[in-house]
Amino acid sequence: MPLVNPQEPVVLPEALEVWQRTLNWQPTSKQQSKFQNLYTEILKGNQRLNLTRITDPAEFWEKHLWDSLCGIQPWLNQSERSLQVIDVGTGAGFPGVPVAIVCPQWRITLLDSTQKKIAFLADLIATLQLKAEAITDRAERLGHLVQHREKYDLALIRAVATASVCAEYTLPLLKVGGSAVLYRGQWSEAETQGLQIAAKQLGGCITQIERFETPLSQSVRHCIYLKKVELTRAIFPRAIGVPTQKPL
Ligand code: SAM
Repeated sequence: MPLVNPQEPVVLPEALEVWQRTLNWQPTSKQQSKFQNLYTEILKGNQRLNLTRITDPAEFWEKHLWDSLCGIQPWLNQSERSLQVIDVGTGAGFPGVPVAIVCPQWRITLLDSTQKKIAFLADLIATLQLKAEAITDRAERLGHLVQHREKYDLALIRAVATASVCAEYTLPLLKVGGSAVLYRGQWSEAETQGLQIAAKQLGGCITQIERFETPLSQSVRHCIYLKKVELTRAIFPRAIGVPTQKPL
């Protein structure tokens, strides 16, 4: 792991040309400075919490910033619309925090089952002055609460579980017409077929599968876009732990 001394300011790449070429978008100087503050706060938080092993500046830029924003590329140039967005299993705030920085009109809910990470994120939200809230809970429980069920336009989920489990965590939270973005690494035709079956049971369907290469290390990524087309039956999400033990 590259060693970064959190006492010394480490500067993130600006990479404006790369943002423009790959996502047809560039951060403003205010957003750029919030990215830098986010990076500094994560390095500080990493001294007491196990937030991320990605601390090298270029790697952080690619694997946390670029990767987080790549999934919302279809919405990046129309971020003025106010959307209700949830990041399920946000961990140290990815993809939700970079998304909150670049889409300040959106209301972002950061959800994770680990209380320590959510306490860190609550402080981070205040420091970066983001329009976001951080909630400690399980997706299986939140999906049944009236304040959250069928309330979101967009649900993001990265590195949390298998694709059909991610569908069960996110689709109950979406309004009909809303979208879920499943951030994946490699992807196969067999996974598409399994996910199609699960999504249908949950009131959703796959609308798009995008393959990307990350711009610095050329690693393969896929984003799977689901749309909610009808209400999710009340039995979903199933009880805590059941989605992972008995995937749809
Ligand atoms: N999304 C972040 C990222 O890509 O960097 C964090 C990924 S981390 C590997 C998975 C996170 O999902 C953990 O922080 C874990 O606590 C959370 N998580 C797993 N299952 C969950 C559930 N059912 N409800 C809420 N959070 C969950």
